[in-house]
Amino acid sequence: MNKILFTPGPVQMDKSILNIGSIQTPYFRNAEFSSLILECEENLLSLVNASYGSRAIFLSGSGTLAMEAAVTNFMGVDSVAAVINGGSFGERFVKICKTHNIATIELLVDRDDLSSGSILDFDGHVSALLTNVHETSVGHVYSLDSIKQFCLKKRCLNIVDAISYFVTDFIDVSSSAIDVLILSSHKGLGLPPGLSVLVLSERAVEMVGVGNASFYLNLGEYLGDGLRGQTPFTPSIQILMQLRERLKQINSLGLDHFIDHAKNLAEYFRAGIRSLPLAPYSKSMPNAMTAVELLCNMPASLVVERLAGEYGCIVAPNGGNLKNSVFRVSHMGALEISHYDHLLNSLKNIFRDG
Ligand SMILES: *Cc1c(COP(=O)(O)O)cnc(C)c1O
Repeated sequence: MNKILFTPGPVQMDKSILNIGSIQTPYFRNAEFSSLILECEENLLSLVNASYGSRAIFLSGSGTLAMEAAVTNFMGVDSVAAVINGGSFGERFVKICKTHNIATIELLVDRDDLSSGSILDFDGHVSALLTNVHETSVGHVYSLDSIKQFCLKKRCLNIVDAISYFVTDFIDVSSSAIDVLILSSHKGLGLPPGLSVLVLSERAVEMVGVGNASFYLNLGEYLGDGLRGQTPFTPSIQILMQLRERLKQINSLGLDHFIDHAKNLAEYFRAGIRSLPLAPYSKSMPNAMTAVELLCNMPASLVVERLAGEYGCIVAPNGGNLKNSVFRVSHMGALEISHYDHLLNSLKNIFRDG
């Protein structure tokens, strides 16, 4: 049975990307690889509409590494971080800040899109606001506009994790006044895990060094070497080659094509579950994913297990107190309407059997 990944990372990958994964890893300390890195940086900056003086940094690791690099390079012992925590990725930012002894204001929310601004109405100094624009644990999107207003008012850094947002959903770092944008390879970009990217505004570039970064994650070194298309340590060579290919595809078809594709899949799936005992868990959803809540007594964990075991559909279970009521279906990666027909039919069978 062919397995289809409907998980929010890793995602289904297309043939052009898989093929690049099968070739001999080339040497990288040369002009040829430098030009690949410079090309990836230039294309990424342009796709998120970064302004002049912005830079992109490539790190070898999953998205959490980039989250930690953002915390440790821009905040030090005297900094205060405010974190929007509406799920496990918000909680992860809180844990990273605490690990590095950074004073943290935790803004606990539950599917609040922040557009009312209430939780952001507090007094006191803040050095940076940390947000996961799409909180992937519950499929919920926050208002980038409210986040921007807060950061302008507090004159603080605006650090946004858009790991499960970029490519499927529209992001513009200039109009949203984002200083540090966090991206990673194995979500919307549709590549294997192991490469993460930080896009820094000119202001963020100037601030690198205020924190207490570790030796490996000292972004100053990456910025310096990056000027000539290099990284201080061995980069994720193969994934960077796959990234170049993906960026070429995005540029040739246009980013809108990829956003519309994900939007169509999301709408098709959300319309398809209306006849099933399932409902979207959030009212503010990205194109990237749908978290679905069960409206019947069947445990969500059993649905996840049966989809995988009997139908080859791999969806993502939830943990904690949502284990029995919610599971997640991604719209990222190389998926088509026909995959959702199979998923919806499988769900119909499971609920008919009861
Ligand atoms: C996937 C993801 C990450 C990265 O998590 P890893 O476990 O390091 O891959 C970070 N933030 C969000 C919002 C994510 O969806």
